[in-house]
Amino acid sequence: MSLVAENLALVRARIDAAAREAGRDPSEVRLVAVSKKKPTALVREAYEAGQRDFGENYVQELLAKAEECADLSELRWHMIGHLQRNKVKPVLRVAAAIHTVDSMKLARDLGKRAMETPMPVVRRLEAGTDQRLPVLIEVNVGGEAQKSGCEPSAVPDIAQAIEAQGSLQLAGLMTVPPHTEDPSGARPFFDRLVELQHEHGGSARFGELSMGMSHDLEPAVQAGATFVRIGAAIFGAREA
Ligand SMILES: *Cc1c(COP(=O)(O)O)cnc(C)c1O
Repeated sequence: MSLVAENLALVRARIDAAAREAGRDPSEVRLVAVSKKKPTALVREAYEAGQRDFGENYVQELLAKAEECADLSELRWHMIGHLQRNKVKPVLRVAAAIHTVDSMKLARDLGKRAMETPMPVVRRLEAGTDQRLPVLIEVNVGGEAQKSGCEPSAVPDIAQAIEAQGSLQLAGLMTVPPHTEDPSGARPFFDRLVELQHEHGGSARFGELSMGMSHDLEPAVQAGATFVRIGAAIFGAREA
């Protein structure tokens, strides 16, 4: 087994254990393998091991990797980094989901562009006939000045802006909590995202919660994550 395959199995075991501990069905938690700053050779290893969802932060890197991996027909790219409005168009050609919508303007731009760029069937997150692009609202629950994401109070307006776009599907909420040494320190921030979900329509409106990284996946899964975004624990540490 390749190292990446071994790491994937370890991460999956961590997710499953955390889910069971919280009385959740582990299959509710989907793993997005974050391959930023790592070569596509490792993406291929993960794909060989059965991984299908991959996350990238930077538009140029996402586009280059999508091209290099174009033969991996079931691979789904998740855009998990800050998205500038002038970069929307190329991202729509390759992304199966966008986790980082944090303004009404971005929602409108995405909606307009997504009308012109239908997603290939194999790239869809869900089986079925829904042709809308799933997008999540990134919320800066920690209120950190240097982080992207909207303020919690902006969630209702951005949600409405997404719902007004016939080409977008409001899929859920995403967050990156402030870093804490002890992973359990992230738990209150994950709980805050869950609270926001409940305040604004619950899981019927916001089906997905994208939260949890290598360091804090357990508290995220225990709080209710449906997507965890894991990089280092699968592909190894990145250079700073
Ligand atoms: C880099 C990154 C991840 C993965 O982080 P790891 O600590 O490597 O697991 C997840 N989400 C976002 C938004 C990231 O930028």
